[in-house]
Amino acid sequence: MSAANICRTQSRLSHTFSDGRMCRLFHFPILYCNNECLHCLVPAKPQGKVIGLSEVTPLIKKGRKRFSQVSIGGGEPTLWASLLPLIRYCKNLHFNVQLHSNCRKMSDEAFALRIVKTGIDGITVPLHAHTSTIHDAITRRKGSFLETIRGIRNLQKCGFENIHVMVVVQKLNYRILPVIAEFLCRKGIQTVSFDATVFTGAAVKNFNLIAVRISKAAAYLQRALSILSHGNVEAYSTSFPFCVINRPYWRFLVNTRNSFVITNLSQSVGNNSGYRCQGCGTSLAKVCASCKARLFCPGTWYTYYDFFGEKEFKPLKTVAMADIVRAVSGAGIKNIFGIPPF
Ligand code: SF4
Repeated sequence: MSAANICRTQSRLSHTFSDGRMCRLFHFPILYCNNECLHCLVPAKPQGKVIGLSEVTPLIKKGRKRFSQVSIGGGEPTLWASLLPLIRYCKNLHFNVQLHSNCRKMSDEAFALRIVKTGIDGITVPLHAHTSTIHDAITRRKGSFLETIRGIRNLQKCGFENIHVMVVVQKLNYRILPVIAEFLCRKGIQTVSFDATVFTGAAVKNFNLIAVRISKAAAYLQRALSILSHGNVEAYSTSFPFCVINRPYWRFLVNTRNSFVITNLSQSVGNNSGYRCQGCGTSLAKVCASCKARLFCPGTWYTYYDFFGEKEFKPLKTVAMADIVRAVSGAGIKNIFGIPPF
């Protein structure tokens, strides 16, 4: 094994339980957002009482006994007044802290600098196209693309590099995944993930507008993964299964079916397959029972089968050891912490 691969493996293991499951504490301080994405899981308007820092910190402290990573998401967490103190609190507890943010607020240079100064470890940014026209159509907020791009640039100007862009694959963007990949290479993004739409919340209401079969998007995804890989950008997907993707690309597919998540929303404890908070979680189809690759395959979102059935999934009769080694080696992925649990 090369030195680079050993480093990647160690990086991967550092975020797992001893039995190999990825795990993290996921905190959502607010459940509303300044975008209103066509595929979003959460409501655009504030819901219920907004919690304060003093209500959050005991939960975080309790979680420290079991977790070394915390992800702060939403909604859009930069709209929550106590975000910066919360990140500092987590850092004081020696958590590795990941923020999930559309970074529109970071278009203000001073705010971007304040975020970086908290010592945040990584930021995951949803970005769904390379142009305002398409991205803003998906977020349903005019100007959101330019603000997000400016936010990313401001973070980079402050010396912050660990940015993971998350692209939700849907009818409006699946054909341009390779162009998005080229765009992200030029922007100096470190890690990019592509995931199928989770059919819950707004995605169900907007089904006819955004739904695309994963098998239809597969060829475009493969091209995008190849472009990113050649551009030395880490790339992966957690919701495209082996049987719709050509074998040379299996190394980009990450199985998070056994990841372990605790959130403040449901206090759910368990593996990702049993994790049903906000309708998320990946699983295999019934037909997968006879597949030789079932142990390693990421499967897809469990809600996908309700809408599209199981016709696309073709159990594999043979799997070479080389395919499995390639699939589980995680080649090209060192920022495993950037992988969303759903
Ligand atoms: S049949 Fe199921 S387990 Fe096998 S590759 Fe396809 S999705 Fe994965």
